[in-house]
Parts: sequence; structure tokens; C-alpha cells
Amino acid sequence: MKRPMLANNPVLILGGTAEAAALAGRLTAQGLKVITSLAGRTRDPAPLPGETRIGGFGGVEGLASYLRDNQIVVLVDATHPFAAQMSANAPAAAEKSGTPRLCLERPAWRRQADDNWIDVGDEAAATAVLPAGARAFLALGSQHLAPFAKRDNVHFVLRMVDEPRAAPALASHEIVPGLPGDIESETALLRGRRITHLVCRNSGGDASYAKIVAARDLGIPVIMIRRPAEPVPPVAQTVEEAVAFIESVLSA
Ligand code: NAP
Repeated sequence: MKRPMLANNPVLILGGTAEAAALAGRLTAQGLKVITSLAGRTRDPAPLPGETRIGGFGGVEGLASYLRDNQIVVLVDATHPFAAQMSANAPAAAEKSGTPRLCLERPAWRRQADDNWIDVGDEAAATAVLPAGARAFLALGSQHLAPFAKRDNVHFVLRMVDEPRAAPALASHEIVPGLPGDIESETALLRGRRITHLVCRNSGGDASYAKIVAARDLGIPVIMIRRPAEPVPPVAQTVEEAVAFIESVLSA
């Protein structure tokens, strides 16, 4: 059953991405009430425009109840493209509660003519395609490293913002401190560490694309982990498209 769509009712953004933060900024600047939901994985998240709530909802039922109880006018799933569970829960809960929903997801990177990509479905498959003797740069969060522990004939180079509390369970590895850089610094890193393979997820966006360009320029194969699922339509690829969708819902 549809509920009346009132412009002073809140928009709920399922967040955890730069796009979610940008959307919250755009909507609050227009005077809309915004609640951003975070899973609670980050210890000290940066403050966001509007209200913030933290923690899971308790599956589809929990999210549907939240949407109803808080009279959410539009639900925007702006979670990371690899947050598959939440992106499956969002359309189901929206349907149950009769809440308009949009998925805001940045486009995936596309293979260019001179890219040498090996397309794989997950980290386990990425592990399996690395040849013995490879020096692999794993551009992955520490929670995604476990499958690579199987390989004791590959040297792994990891980039981490902070030194991990416990050493990664990888037989042969080194840690490079820092964040993704520009094409020049990514090229220097791949060359300097004698990387033979880059392993990364197809996150899309500009923030970490320089390493893909560097690998292309150096002729290094990229083991590209594809996204877990296609987003459920309607989908906006940019914050501007999401704002337009919300405006259309509010003016309907
Ligand atoms: P996930 O596997 O899709 O979700 C697992 C569970 O975490 C969900 O069922 C939900 O619990 C809860 N959850 C996820 N996102 C939530 C949110 N925005 N607000 C409230 N609860 C949320 O998600 P994930 O891959 O662990 O990602 C968690 C968060 O980190 C997301 O917000 C995502 O945008 C952000 N993030 C993820 C990645 C990534 O690589 N996956 C990268 C950068 C940022 P209930 O079922 O109890 O509601």
C-alpha cells in the first residue's frame, strides 16, 4: 500500500560511500530531511550532512518496518557496489513497505582496448589464476585477503592505510603504507615493487582508477573481480540523477 509522499518526510540513504555523502549534502542543501544509515563497520565515521543512524536493520523485515515507522518518502540504496546483501534487501523491503526506491551505483570500469584484464568472480578465483612465482599487488581490504593464504609460491604486496594489528596470514608479503595515488605514483609503485599482476575489485569511480591506468601503461595483467550482482532498477549512476529521481517522486 502506498503512503502519502510528503516532502517533509525523510529520505533514507543507505550509505558508506562518497556518493551517499554527496547526495546527503545535496538534499539537505535543498532543505530536505535526510537520514543516512551506516552499517557501523568504520570506528569513527566522518560526520555527514543530516541525521545519521548506525547498525543493521535486521534483514528485509527490519528495514521494511523502519521504512514504515519513520515514514520514509524515498529509499536510496547508495551502498558500495560490492555490498550485495544490503542491495538485495533494499528492493525487497521497499516493495513490502510500498516505499519508492532508487539504487545509486557508480558505473563499473570498462576494459579499454589495451587493457589486459582477467575477469574473475571472487577472491578465490583470483587466487587460482595467479601463476607460481608471481608478485601480486592486492588492492583489496584486509577482510578480503584470506583466500590468498593458500598460495605460498606467490609474493603479495599489500597497501594499507594503517599498519594491521595482526600480520596478514600470507606466506610471503610486504606492506606498503598509504592510500591510492595518482598515475605517476601508482606507476612508480608497480614498477618499484616489480609487480607482475594487479588484483582488484571493479569498484568504479575515479578515486582508485590510477592503478588501472598504470597497469595498462606497464602492460601488467589485472585480475579484475567483477561486481557480485547487477543493481535492481531503477538505477542512478550519478548524484545528479539521484536528485532528479527524488525530485520527481516528491512532485508526483
Ligand atoms: P552487505 O554485505 O551488503 O550487508 C551485510 C549486512 O550489513 C546487511 O544485511 C545489513 O544488516 C548491514 N548493512 C549493510 N549496509 C548497511 C547500511 N548502509 N546501513 C545499515 N546496515 C547496513 O554490506 P557490506 O559489504 O558489509 O558493507 C557494509 C557497508 O560498508 C555498506 O554501507 C557499504 O556501503 C560500505 N562499504 C562496503 C564496501 C565493500 O567493499 N563491500 C566498500 C566500501 C564501503 P541487516 O540485514 O541487519 O540490515
